[in-house]
Parts: sequence; structure tokens; C-alpha cells
Amino acid sequence: MTRAEKIDIKSLLLDELRKELQQLAEPSYRAGQITSWLYYKRARAFEEMTDLPKSIRARLAERFSIGNIDVIRVIGSRDTTRKFLFRLRDGNLIESVLIPASPALYGGKSDRRTVCVSTQVGCAFGCKFCASGLEGFSRNLRANEIVDQIIAIERESGARIDNLVFMGMGEPLANFDSVMRAIRIINAPWGLGVGARHITVSTSGLAPQIRKLAAEPLQVRLAVSLHGATDVVRNQLMPINRRYNIETLLSACDYYIARKKQQVTFEYILIAGVNDSNDQANLLAVHAQRLSAKVNLIPYNRVEDLSWSRPSQDRQEKFLSILRVHGIPATLRREKGGDIEAACGQLRLQTKREGASSACPESRSTKIFCTQPKADV
Ligand code: SAH
Ligand code: SF4
Repeated sequence: MTRAEKIDIKSLLLDELRKELQQLAEPSYRAGQITSWLYYKRARAFEEMTDLPKSIRARLAERFSIGNIDVIRVIGSRDTTRKFLFRLRDGNLIESVLIPASPALYGGKSDRRTVCVSTQVGCAFGCKFCASGLEGFSRNLRANEIVDQIIAIERESGARIDNLVFMGMGEPLANFDSVMRAIRIINAPWGLGVGARHITVSTSGLAPQIRKLAAEPLQVRLAVSLHGATDVVRNQLMPINRRYNIETLLSACDYYIARKKQQVTFEYILIAGVNDSNDQANLLAVHAQRLSAKVNLIPYNRVEDLSWSRPSQDRQEKFLSILRVHGIPATLRREKGGDIEAACGQLRLQTKREGASSACPESRSTKIFCTQPKADV
């Protein structure tokens, strides 16, 4: 069996690992020993698992690999938002973002040490404002590649991650099985132990998959990238809206909320002259009222090669105030600026100079656009 054919052990759930051990004629308690080495002690090789007999370590190494993603760049510094550029085993590049502390939007009182993870290399959904789709879709990430983004960030930063948003490159609900598998591992007490309510899945609006997510037992949070309050505006921005229009999307959200007894969040990028009118704000308020949803307004981050731009500060504030007049819980990210933005362009440039072909969207924009806010009101 070649290394490439081996199963990555970090893609297995505890029960599956127990079954694998049964096949190796090993007692099932070994599964707990192994997960403790993987997720608690963070072993990177079977040889390190010294409380397992040598013969078992050798047989495990024959059958499984222990994946590890290489961090090839880090930008930002301790106590600021940091971006991590990873090289996957097949050479593809992805990025994750670590946000040290920010006010709560999705979780409890205060979301701390949040990681924004990628779920695909590229994206097939081609939203007109987004860098992720610019080079099309390459492939889905496997569950272990999603889990490994968090493990690698914890190792590099020394921080314990307690909040997770699926808002990096890719559409999480289009990689449903691997994302759900990764979430189970991330949430499990034998895994990374991140509470389900501290995990937010963001979708561009795959209505059937929202219903499927509603049937999952885990109480993960849902964020919906709306970005337009009418089909005319949303069609302009998001091709997915032609498949699942706003009414279809909202009724899937109704279903999700009824099943989960949970509040959803609308993500709404503000783009100058496109979706930032008073009319859009009023209609967005109607949708938010219907679902009792929160609204997270994000001034558009410019992407090189794309002509969209963010509205003036005044327009952003006006849009926010209309939502608030309607009583909608809404936040607006107010940029503080900082070194990360310059460094971000630098990262991209350097990566390009090295001939890498598929950097993650954050590195292709001039700013980080993970929608977890840095500073909200
Ligand atoms: N595919 C999923 C999750 C990844 S995108 C989704 O679309 O929800 C995460 C968020 O980043 C989405 O709300 C997306 O619309 C937003 N986004 C993409 N490009 C952006 C940009 N240039 N500026 C600000 N937000 C952006
Ligand atoms: Fe894909 Fe989300 Fe970007 Fe749309 S916004 S292209 S769905 S990553």
C-alpha cells in the first residue's frame, strides 16, 4: 500500500477507529489511546505513541497516515489577526485566518480565538464579488485537511481555538459530508472539543443543503450570505440565486430555525451602488424580521481585478441605522486598518513570485475578508 492510498487517521470518527482496531484484532480501548495522542498530545507519528506496543504502532503506520499541513507563510503578529498560508500534500495552497478576540456575533458572550477555515480549493459558485471563484474550483478538502488547519494554527500560535467559522475559501455545504465529518471531530470531547454553538457554517444559499443541515443533530450555527434583498439585486451578484431564489432560500431558513430553535445570521456585504440603497435596507429588514435573524454588515473588501467597491462611511452608517429603526439586531464592521492589510498584498505577491497558482481568496484580496468582525458596534 503506498502512502497516498493510506487512510488519514484524522479523518476517522472514534467508532470507525474502534472498528479498524477490531479488524487488527486489537482491543477497542486502543482507539481512545490513539485519539488522545492525536488530538490531546498532538503526535505527528505513530512511533510517538509510546503506550502502544511497538507491533501495533508498526501495523497502524502500514495502514494509516497522520496528515499534517505545512504552514508556509504567516502574516500578522500575536494579538492581531493572523493569516496562515498552508500547502496541502498535493501542492494546493489554502489559507486560514486566526482572529484573537472579537465581540460575539455567533457565539456566547465573547468570541475569542476564532479561526476562519477553508473547505474547498477554489469555489464553483462564482459570486461576482468574490476572489474564491476567480480561478474556478479545484477540489473539495477532506475532513482531515479541515481539522488540520486548526491543529496547525494551534501549534503555530500556541492559542487554544474556541470558536470556528466556515468562512474561508469554498462553499461548505457543497462539501457537506467532509465538512460534517470534520465538525464531528472538531466538536467531539475525544477530538478538539470545540462546542457546537461555537461553530458557524456560512453558506451562499444552498437551500436543500440548509434543510439537510437542519436534520443534523449538532447545534452548529448557520450564517447565510444574502448580499441582496431582492432577486434582481441578488441575481446580479450570486449566480446561485437563479437556482434557489430568495423565497426558496428564506423558506429553507424558516425550516432550519423551526428544527433547530436557533437564530440565523445574515451576512450582507455592502457594495457601493449595487446593494446599499435605502430600499434594499428596508427590504432586508423585512426578511430579517420574518426570520428573527441578526444582520452582519460587512463593507466590501476590494479584490484586485474586480471593479466593486465599498460605500462611503456615511452610506454604511445610514444602511445600519435603517435596520436598527426596524429593530433588527445588526452590526457593521468598522475597519481599524493595520499592518495585516499591507502584509496581505505582500503575501500574495511573494506567493505568486514563487509560481504558486491557487492562493486562497484572502490572499487575493487586498484585505482579509473573513466575515468575523474585528470591531463592531
Ligand atoms: N461560500 C460561503 C462561505 C465562504 S465566503 C459563503 O458564501 O457564505 C464567506 C463570506 O465572505 C461570505 O459572506 C462571502 O460573501 C464573503 N466575501 C466574499 N468576498 C468578499 C469580499 N471581497 N469582501 C467582503 N466579504 C466577502
Ligand atoms: Fe464561493 Fe462563498 Fe465566494 Fe460565493 S462568496 S464564490 S460561494 S466562497
